Amino acid sequence: MSSENPAPNHFIRQIVMDDLDSGKHASIATRFPPEPNGYLHIGHAKSICLNFGLAQEFGGRCNLRFDDTNPAKEEQEYVDAIKEDVTWLGFHWAELRHASDYFELFHRCALRLIQDGAAYVCDLNAEEVRAYRGTLTEPGRPSPYRDRTIAENLDLFARMRAGEFDDGARTLRAKIDMSSGNINLRDPALYRIRKVAHQNTGDAWCIYPMYDYAHALSDAFEGITHSLCTLEFEDHRPLYDWCLDRLPVWAMPELADELARLELKPGRSRQIEFSRLNLDFLVMSKRKLLALVTDGLVSGWDDARMPTLRGIRRRGYTPEALRNFVRNAGVTKQQSVLEYSLLENEVRNDLDVRAERRLAVIDPLRLTITNLPADHDELLTLSNHPKDESCGTRQVGFSSQLVIEREDFMEVPPKGFHRLVPGGEVRLRSVGIVKCEEVIKDDAGNVIELRCTLDLTSRPGGTGSDRKIKGTIHWVSTRHAMQAEVRLYDRLFTVADPDDDHDGKSYRDYLNPLSVRTVTAFLEGSLKAVEPESRFQFERLGYFVADRLDHRADRPVFNRICTLRDSYAKAK
Ligand code: ATP
Ligand code: MG
Repeated sequence: MSSENPAPNHFIRQIVMDDLDSGKHASIATRFPPEPNGYLHIGHAKSICLNFGLAQEFGGRCNLRFDDTNPAKEEQEYVDAIKEDVTWLGFHWAELRHASDYFELFHRCALRLIQDGAAYVCDLNAEEVRAYRGTLTEPGRPSPYRDRTIAENLDLFARMRAGEFDDGARTLRAKIDMSSGNINLRDPALYRIRKVAHQNTGDAWCIYPMYDYAHALSDAFEGITHSLCTLEFEDHRPLYDWCLDRLPVWAMPELADELARLELKPGRSRQIEFSRLNLDFLVMSKRKLLALVTDGLVSGWDDARMPTLRGIRRRGYTPEALRNFVRNAGVTKQQSVLEYSLLENEVRNDLDVRAERRLAVIDPLRLTITNLPADHDELLTLSNHPKDESCGTRQVGFSSQLVIEREDFMEVPPKGFHRLVPGGEVRLRSVGIVKCEEVIKDDAGNVIELRCTLDLTSRPGGTGSDRKIKGTIHWVSTRHAMQAEVRLYDRLFTVADPDDDHDGKSYRDYLNPLSVRTVTAFLEGSLKAVEPESRFQFERLGYFVADRLDHRADRPVFNRICTLRDSYAKAK
């Protein structure tokens, strides 16, 4: 059963349709280009759904490209996780590529720029480069090395590559415009020296291409038609275009053999920017998420409270819900922060349709039915889904020894409390009406047991089965139940904007100390043999999932995915 919405139009989708209509492109190609230096988060899902979604909708292709031009920061662990997470979200890449596969191509392109007088080797160090670059209001000054001859540049670049110079001693820079209003065009670096082994190419290189240069060229090598990125790259677009104006890689004979070897069909791509997805009550930068992990503030990248795709998967969110959420969020150039409740609502909508119902008591209070034999043992047939008969039925054990939710009883109830009170009546779901005859307490005065009588005529099919009664509560028979660890999750942060500066405090100061609480719950016996990642609605409590990593038949562990209603919207 699917609860997915159709694709709404947005400005990028419109561009794609126009380009197909006008014949500019016969088919489209997009790519999702993560840097493998961390796990994917909910924000990345927007980029994934957009890139893969457009390719899917218009019969094009979408590559997964690891943007791994930065040595030493990236790890195989992240590469594997990213592949798994994209697949979990429901997408398939046309080709799996690594920017580092293009190091030879990037290098040949750099030689071409030097030969065309469009790039030069600069001896300024990082600090000097900064001083020469100028500011937003002042133009930059030309580097003293800007007018080196082509021969001199070729020689120095070859020696950079050969490892003759130290890290940071020289860079290769584009020769563009030191007085440009756009600082990205003030002779940006194209290559830097980094004598560090690369996870993919080992010691083959000690010079590495810079992001803007490598990104534009990678798109062109792969024949990407629409290169979608987030708004912070808007100011980089002139440099993206400069690279492709200067380097028509689809028409450079010196690249042909290498492009053929890599089976690449190059073409000119266009960069289009859209705004990031931000959510309240969360931090989403990889750096901050990494800090939460390394400082032990969460149990790992796959902690069920983390906004990583593994985290929300562990928590029990469905890929369908996440895709719906991203689709409804739309694609614009306006920066905004979305409410986390919108995502939770998509999860509820999806699970309401798909999740079978079960009975569970997470905060148990004993309830004994005194007018049934102590060994009463009965199987009730309950439907698995109130709105979907195809989900079938199951048998649930019933006896005189039950537990109910502690909050469903109150000794001194407030007005309007329709559940169980001393001397009062309530309907037990699918059983009948019980009356609380006696409240048993321990020495400290805590209520430990309710002794009730069951109106036998009120049982289903009985003469009094339609007797009106205000409250209905759920229960589990202790004899038929199993006990399980249940993890009750709440928001990781206590404020809506943990990322912002609050009087020098940081997001760490706003961690919610109650973001997880573990209880031992009574679950109906039919939950005994479920597979990890099976999701259910525990009636009246919320949606729960058998933990992907820790759940076992002999040691069941369930996570609360979300409650049935949005408690935050109510509190506001
Ligand atoms: P972070 O800022 O969290 O470290 P990043 O942008 O450095 O993320 P990348 O691996 O470079 O992470 O991102 C891969 C792609 O995902 C890029 O195209 C990037 O623009 C996009 N992306 C990252 N974060 C978001 C977001 N919050 N919303 C939409 N797209 C995003
Ligand atoms: Mg990035």
